[in-house]
Formats: sequence, structure tokens, C-alpha cells
Amino acid sequence: MRARILVIEDNAKNLKLVHDVLEYAGYEVVEARTGEEGIEAALRCAPDLVLMDLQLPGIDGNETLRQLREAGQRDVPVVAVTAFAMHADRERVLAEGFDGYLEKPISVRAFPGQVRDFLHPEVAT
Ligand SMILES: [Mg+2]
Repeated sequence: MRARILVIEDNAKNLKLVHDVLEYAGYEVVEARTGEEGIEAALRCAPDLVLMDLQLPGIDGNETLRQLREAGQRDVPVVAVTAFAMHADRERVLAEGFDGYLEKPISVRAFPGQVRDFLHPEVAT
């Protein structure tokens, strides 16, 4: 079974890069460009993992996470993918309730493995 990853990212270039890298690594990728679109997609496609840009038009990543949890998406791991590189920000992201944090720009080589580490063991094949 291919793990399904929902990528919420408003920057077209970043979205394409993440999509291509994950697809090449064998994942099924679902795209969303706003938090609102992401919540709708999550409820529709039941992803195994959500990768979330924090700076989004409309509701931001933190609010999107909150609404996702409120909408019943409680078990799906949600990982922030963001350009904030400072340690304090990492702590803040985890405090907001994200399951993890990956930095932009992503490393094309390392990214699939980093993503895999956040999947529940039964889907991380
Ligand atoms: Mg953004």
C-alpha cells in the first residue's frame, strides 16, 4: 500500500518540488494550496501524513492544524514545513501541536526519508 501524503503549500514552485520528490519516492501525493483547501482534502482523502506550510493565504498553518484536529483528524501526523530556521521556532511549532518540523529549502535527497520517519509504522513500508 502506498502511503498517501497531503501537501498544503501555497508556493507553486515548492509544491511542485515536494510533489515530484515524494512521487518519485513512491508516495501518493494530494495537493492543496490553502489551509481551507487542505482541510477539505484531508476529510475527503484520509491522508497518512500531512505536510503543512505555515505561511498560507487565508488561515495559516497553525489555524489549519487546529481546524483539522477539530474536524476529527486526530491521529494523522501533521508536520510543519517552513523556512523559519531558528531553534526557538522549532520549539514553538511543536508547542502548537505539530508532530514534527522540516526545514525549507528541503533536501531532495534526504526528504523522502525524513518524511517516512513521521509515518505510522504500519504505512511506512
Ligand atoms: Mg507559504
